Amino acid sequence: MAALVVQKYGGSSVADATKIKHVARRVARERDAGSDLVVVVSAMGDTTDHLLDLAASITDEPDAREMDLLLATGEHISGTLVAMALQAIGVPAISLTGAQAGIRTDTTHGKARIANVDPSRVREEIARGKVVIVAGFQGSTGDEHRTGEVTTLGRGGSDTTAVALAARLQADRCEIYTDVEGIYTTDPRVVPDARLLPVIGYEEMLEMAQQGAQVMQTRAVELGWVNGVVIAVRSTFSDHPGTLIKEVSAMELRDKVRGVALDRKVAKVTLVGVPDRPGIARGIFDPLAAAGISVDMIVQNVGHAGTTDLSFTVPAVELPRTRKIIEPIVKAEGFRDLVTADDVAKISIVGAGIQNAPGYAARMFGALADAGVNIGMISTSDIRITCIIPSADLDRAARALHAAFRLEAPEAVEGGVGRV
Ligand code: ASP
Ligand code: MG
Repeated sequence: MAALVVQKYGGSSVADATKIKHVARRVARERDAGSDLVVVVSAMGDTTDHLLDLAASITDEPDAREMDLLLATGEHISGTLVAMALQAIGVPAISLTGAQAGIRTDTTHGKARIANVDPSRVREEIARGKVVIVAGFQGSTGDEHRTGEVTTLGRGGSDTTAVALAARLQADRCEIYTDVEGIYTTDPRVVPDARLLPVIGYEEMLEMAQQGAQVMQTRAVELGWVNGVVIAVRSTFSDHPGTLIKEVSAMELRDKVRGVALDRKVAKVTLVGVPDRPGIARGIFDPLAAAGISVDMIVQNVGHAGTTDLSFTVPAVELPRTRKIIEPIVKAEGFRDLVTADDVAKISIVGAGIQNAPGYAARMFGALADAGVNIGMISTSDIRITCIIPSADLDRAARALHAAFRLEAPEAVEGGVGRV
């Protein structure tokens, strides 16, 4: 039986007609090699941003249902054009909307979750010998809800479409094509020594993505992990094999840092003189959670004289909404002050080896100190240590940590044993 390959092409890979024709040739080559293909596409270039701007120029509070129907059109355009480009070079192809491709979601407009995938139409079209193009980033509400309402999966959601289809179709390969060669140890625009990783574990990739590495949507990584889908991240414009995201053996995970993740889009909120009594934290974080604002690092100082200071971080884009929610609480509860800053950034070292070996935190803090970088907040997980630092110091901090953990050095055995 022919191998089934799911390929996903990001917005920059289908940004104009020339690139769409290039993608078509790439798909045709894979088909000539004997594979069946499902091709998931993002919207062309910045189309989704333009559609968002367009809606914002009409109203401050666009209706969520209409917004999803609008945003979904971006992927319809790229899907149809890729199908036409394939047909034009003699490859039978058909494009499907997310709904037609059987992507069923819950009813949360703007960040719907995939409930299931009905693969029947996609399978039928493959059986007819067609390359099936699927509009990424979208689905429709399924059986138990009002059916047939178009939903979108959140920014970057085409990755999730691809991994969900690969899982449901039990694809032999799942390839995410983008404008970089794969996953790097850190952002190569910041650290010229950044090295392409041949392999990264799911958990490590998830932490890297959550902490700012922008190559893949975190939900797609999660979905791949849960379903055991090996994901290749590769460049549309080269034949480099890229990076494989997969389960990495315990042996390979020993004693190492895999990468340094950077996030500039962070804001810090400090509540000064917060009464030191039960219920205060709930009074602050409940309303933020209800507004769907994800609070990241939380640091509360030891109380003195009946009050304490509480700091936390939110995504920078959420700072205005956060202030709007917190200001009335500050007044009502008599906190001394509310201080916010968006000139902070987050830097993390990530590696499954961290959990087995002591000393990583000390080395990280030492490297930052040597580089003259002041640490504002610290948080850790099993496989990650994160510091909040001044934005202006981020690039310098990244270079310092990359060098301190010798991430530029190729490993004898990738994921190698006992280095660091
Ligand atoms: N077009 C959508 C976005 O820009 C989805 C995607 O590209 O994956 O977020
Ligand atoms: Mg994307």
